Amino acid sequence: MAMTRAFITGATGQDGTYLTRHLHAHGYEVHGLVRPGDPPPLDPDLITVHEGDLTERAALSALLDDIRPSQIYNLGGLSSVAFCWSEPVLAVEVNGAAAVFLMETAWKLQERTGDKISFVQASSAEMFGEATVSPQTEATPLAPVNPYGASKALAHLAVGVYRARGLHASSLILYNHESPLRPPTFVTRKITQGAAAIAKGEMTELRLGNLDARRDWGWAPDYVAALALAAEHSEPGDYIIGTGEAHTVREFVAAAFLAAGVADWEKHVVQDPAFFRPVDPTLLVADATRARNELGWRPSVSFADLVSSMVAVDLDA
Ligand code: GDP
Repeated sequence: MAMTRAFITGATGQDGTYLTRHLHAHGYEVHGLVRPGDPPPLDPDLITVHEGDLTERAALSALLDDIRPSQIYNLGGLSSVAFCWSEPVLAVEVNGAAAVFLMETAWKLQERTGDKISFVQASSAEMFGEATVSPQTEATPLAPVNPYGASKALAHLAVGVYRARGLHASSLILYNHESPLRPPTFVTRKITQGAAAIAKGEMTELRLGNLDARRDWGWAPDYVAALALAAEHSEPGDYIIGTGEAHTVREFVAAAFLAAGVADWEKHVVQDPAFFRPVDPTLLVADATRARNELGWRPSVSFADLVSSMVAVDLDA
């Protein structure tokens, strides 16, 4: 029997790397889209890499014709909220329009060949913006407050459109999810690297932005498992994926310095206006009841363990 073929955009990012491992372990043949110039995959034996850009439509459509995947995971795009403030139009093109094009291409391929395709969109809690209800569910209105959230909302809404059109299209609304593969442009890794460097005497001061910002931080490998569960589920749908527990950046800092064995984190952390955001959602907390009931999904790693396992890797580095 032929192996199930999966196609992942953003295949060499944090989530793409964990999803590749997950799908490979479950017997899938994994193909991934990687931008020219991006670092190669961490596990080259587990994935066939195709160089290309999400905005090169003709090439992307030819590639999908060629691979004929039965699952498409759209993880590619601009993942940094901060970066999207500086490139808002690019954010719409890459996070929004490219997702629409992928769904349109998948739908046409399915129509032509009669082979069903599951499409899974990595959506973001940032779509809720300054949510007035907390925790959020799949029914919470979208109200993005930054270009990143708006671009992700466009793709999320298009998932509903293509689902109605007959594509098995699911949108997983992922809350922040971290791991030792997180780049230090994100605050968690910046903190764990900083705490480890200070513990080792390589650095004395860590400059951060808003310490009062709160996030629902989970363990990235749990989140890619949710993506795969949605692709396999009998019905497509929208699912909130998060832990249901929010912590402040300050709490993350305290936990990381504790794990690194540094007392008095206050002595080492400086708040720097350069790292503050023009608008910063503070009430993003997931209610993942639906994912638990319908997909059997639940987070497996606690906040304390998440922080200490990231710090442990940075202490070793
Ligand atoms: P995001 O939720 O996708 O924007 O993930 P980030 O890890 O980039 O940011 C999480 C939160 O940490 C946001 O509310 C930021 O304002 C806050 N934050 C505080 N200091 C920093 C910093 O130095 N770098 C980043 N990236 N975020 C910071």
